[in-house]
Amino acid sequence: MQATETKMKEIVQEKWNKRPLIIAGPCSAETEEQVVETAVRLHKTGKVDMMRAGIWKPRTRPGSFEGIGAKGLPWLQRAKKLTGIPVAVEVATGKQVEDALTFEVDVLWVGARTTVNPFSVQEVADALRGVDVPVLIKNPINPDLELWTGAVERVAKAGIKQIGLIHRGFSSYGNTEYRNAPMWHLAIEMKRRNPGMLFINDPSHICGRRDILQEVAQEAIDLDYDGLIIESHIDPDKAWSDAKQQVTPERLAEMLDSIRWRKEDIASEEYHAAMEKMRQQINHLDDELMQILGTRMKVSEKIGQYKKENNITILQTNRWNAILERAYAKGEKLGLSKEFITKYFDAVHMESINRQNKILNS
Ligand code: PEP
Ligand code: MN
Repeated sequence: MQATETKMKEIVQEKWNKRPLIIAGPCSAETEEQVVETAVRLHKTGKVDMMRAGIWKPRTRPGSFEGIGAKGLPWLQRAKKLTGIPVAVEVATGKQVEDALTFEVDVLWVGARTTVNPFSVQEVADALRGVDVPVLIKNPINPDLELWTGAVERVAKAGIKQIGLIHRGFSSYGNTEYRNAPMWHLAIEMKRRNPGMLFINDPSHICGRRDILQEVAQEAIDLDYDGLIIESHIDPDKAWSDAKQQVTPERLAEMLDSIRWRKEDIASEEYHAAMEKMRQQINHLDDELMQILGTRMKVSEKIGQYKKENNITILQTNRWNAILERAYAKGEKLGLSKEFITKYFDAVHMESINRQNKILNS
């Protein structure tokens, strides 16, 4: 291995472990000038650890720009030589993995439209066998943690040691505030299942628009993500793909400056003592809530028995409406949102129904 290549591997290692890890760059590599100018301007901000650029673009609909292809890879190489910033590219086929590695791409990522397809993920994984390169895996476009986990497993089985996760949101039908709904609870669950695995947020593809990027990035940082991957273009409105969500390198730097970076912990005894006290309080309250829920379910079962004896339906829509109305009114006074009350009572109600179902049909 050449000395410069060894040095680059060291830089990539250092960046991979840096917190927060910031990856930025255009949705797509378009021209050599654009790639190089982006790299230079991102480098100038002093805030970007790696540069991303799509070379092969899996577009939902045909007819839009599908990426410049392998001819863009030398541009990235040149950009890296000029700035020293490692580069990351999306790969979706074995051939793309080979081409990217031939041109010394430092980090590969698996896109959301690839993570959904085990055949494609396996093909990428097979091409990665025996290769020492970090791989980032985006969540699948649909809210399915098993597919995401499956992709991680396939890549890990191919012998890749450094695997990171990118949360880019989940697609849904109809217009929402987001291009891809964040569904934070799924990301939190994925993070819980993979302790210690690099976990970064992609606010660009969640938002699909510039004006709420910072808000979403802040939310991710508040949830203890390890870093961000953000699309940045030298002339965002003229970008060949994802124009609405890209920001200039300078705007990106301003955004990163305004984010309130959090730490996971501090070495203060006073802080820990106060937290311990409040956490005990929470544990105590949670125990009480569970006791009460247990008692409530016992009463539900008694009602079930009664319904059975009198051959009455389990669901009583009027009664269910009355419960909800009462709960909303009470919840409002207690500062509990309607959304939360709905979710909570749905869960409680379904559990009651399941129990009564067992009783009525036993
Ligand atoms: C991208 O990063 O430009 C991209 C295509 O993203 P995703 O796979 O998240 O849609
Ligand atoms: Mn994009």
